[in-house]
Amino acid sequence: MGKTTGFMEYERIEEGYAPVAERLKHYKEFVIGLTPEQAKIQGARCMDCGTPFCNNGCPINNIIPDFNDLVYRGDWANAIQVLHSTNNFPEFTGRICPAPCEAACVANINGDAIGIKSIEHAIIDRAWAEGWVQPQKPKLYTGKKVAVVGAGPAGLAAAQQLVRAGHDVTLFEKNDQVGGLLRYGIPDFKLNKSHIDRRVEQLVAEGLKIRTGVLVAGKDGLGKDSKVTNWAKETVAPETLMAEFDAVLLTGGAEQSRDLPVPGRELKGVHFAMEFLPQQNKTTAEGKYKGQIRADGKHVVVIGGGDTGSDCVGTSNRHGAASVTQLELMPMPPEQENKPLVWPYWPLKLRTSSSHQEGCEREFAIATKEFIGEKGQLTAIKTVRLSFQDGKMTEVAGSEQIIKADLVFLAMGFVSPVQTVLDAFGVDKDARGNAKASTDFSGGYATNVPKLFAAGDIRRGQSLVVWAIREGRQAARAVDEFLMGTSQLPR
Ligand SMILES: Cc1cc2nc3c(=O)[nH]c(=O)nc-3n(C[C@H](O)[C@H](O)[C@H](O)COP(=O)(O)OP(=O)(O)OC[C@H]3O[C@@H](n4cnc5c(N)ncnc54)[C@H](O)[C@@H]3O)c2cc1C
Ligand code: SF4
Repeated sequence: MGKTTGFMEYERIEEGYAPVAERLKHYKEFVIGLTPEQAKIQGARCMDCGTPFCNNGCPINNIIPDFNDLVYRGDWANAIQVLHSTNNFPEFTGRICPAPCEAACVANINGDAIGIKSIEHAIIDRAWAEGWVQPQKPKLYTGKKVAVVGAGPAGLAAAQQLVRAGHDVTLFEKNDQVGGLLRYGIPDFKLNKSHIDRRVEQLVAEGLKIRTGVLVAGKDGLGKDSKVTNWAKETVAPETLMAEFDAVLLTGGAEQSRDLPVPGRELKGVHFAMEFLPQQNKTTAEGKYKGQIRADGKHVVVIGGGDTGSDCVGTSNRHGAASVTQLELMPMPPEQENKPLVWPYWPLKLRTSSSHQEGCEREFAIATKEFIGEKGQLTAIKTVRLSFQDGKMTEVAGSEQIIKADLVFLAMGFVSPVQTVLDAFGVDKDARGNAKASTDFSGGYATNVPKLFAAGDIRRGQSLVVWAIREGRQAARAVDEFLMGTSQLPR
């Protein structure tokens, strides 16, 4: 609970950022974490509120008041034990979680939330530095074989839990490195990839077998003309996997990007965000990527106002784009939410990311009508303003506008998982094309196909890292229960 009077004595302290001019020169992380003394003060602000709503606001139910208290008392070694009891990878969430816990913090009702995410960040970085994060080998081995398909946060969390339960686990990944969107999506300046590598070392030491460059798919692969990132060198058929393993867990994400089929879509210069971002991650890792989409000196328009769009803004500015404009279909939300109305839920409000602060023109309530080009090359886009009344969206007559554009990145979210892969396994789908599986605990995460489970974005649709970790952990328990009749793994 921290210090009884702490919330009245101390202010919220935000993590710092390196100056824009400096951080734009590289792809390294630039957030300056709290010092131990600042973290102690943040911990002291946790106020013994009685019912910690933060704990429910957090999708993995991190035991926030307890680790806040431990940090306030300087007991960092126990703080990481508490944090790891619910979260396999706090170094990911402590960096890139949007922190719904803070929206639910009681101190947020009429003041500023405790800096929960920054405390989480400080605990895990300290734990790695002190050597407190060590492999945890299972005490017994069950002899059961489990395949996990897809090495994003859901697959990694599930694999770690299943290995620790004593199963013989193999993780399959089509790309050349594990991490999913943590590796080939989220830019290095938000999440340095060494954090993933360090965890992979731990996972392997615990007994996980990893097979990268292996696509698990049927004869249709990822579908005709698929633009989904795939650096596989080998394909394994679903039937082979189902015959070889006692249980199979699908954690392949929701990789099918939403397209914008307006006139001119075929022009050179119009790309999915998820063509642009993985190429930069690969370049950062390896020094080059043949034929990389570059934004140097170009007028860039990013269509879509979410995290993916913001990552395109930050990456384009690091390339040295001449201008960056981001378009959002919906109207601009309020800068400040009506807290008594929305607390403890995640509020709709204007969110300005560190990438926006680095330089970006943001336009709201605007739609793209056409991509315009010359000799097959994009030169501009035609837009129209939108008005919203009684929940209805209409185009504003005479508001058409031409915006200069050499490059467009489509960052309008993801429609579904790759359908051909689900079809090859014979998995039933929900109305949005996701793998159909409930999260109820008896039979949770099980698909219609015997011994086949699904978790993460492939089951719930495009979401967040923290939700993927939750689903991976819970699905691991469901698989363990299926194999052994009972499970000691946490819910
Ligand atoms: C650009 C971008 C930025 C984001 N930023 C944030 C953020 O700041 N904070 C946040 O919380 N969330 C963010 N998200 C969302 C978050 O990354 C995802 O919700 C999360 O990674 C989903 O985890 P997952 O394990 O379910 O799937 P993924 O991370 O998508 O991983 C799936 C993995 O499975 C592999 N795979 C798929 N099919 C097969 C197959 N058939 N055979 C073998 N391997 C396969 C894929 O190659 C991939 O590596 C962002 C998403 C994007 C695209
Ligand atoms: S994982 Fe996210 S929601 Fe949970 S405590 Fe950390 S920052 Fe908050």
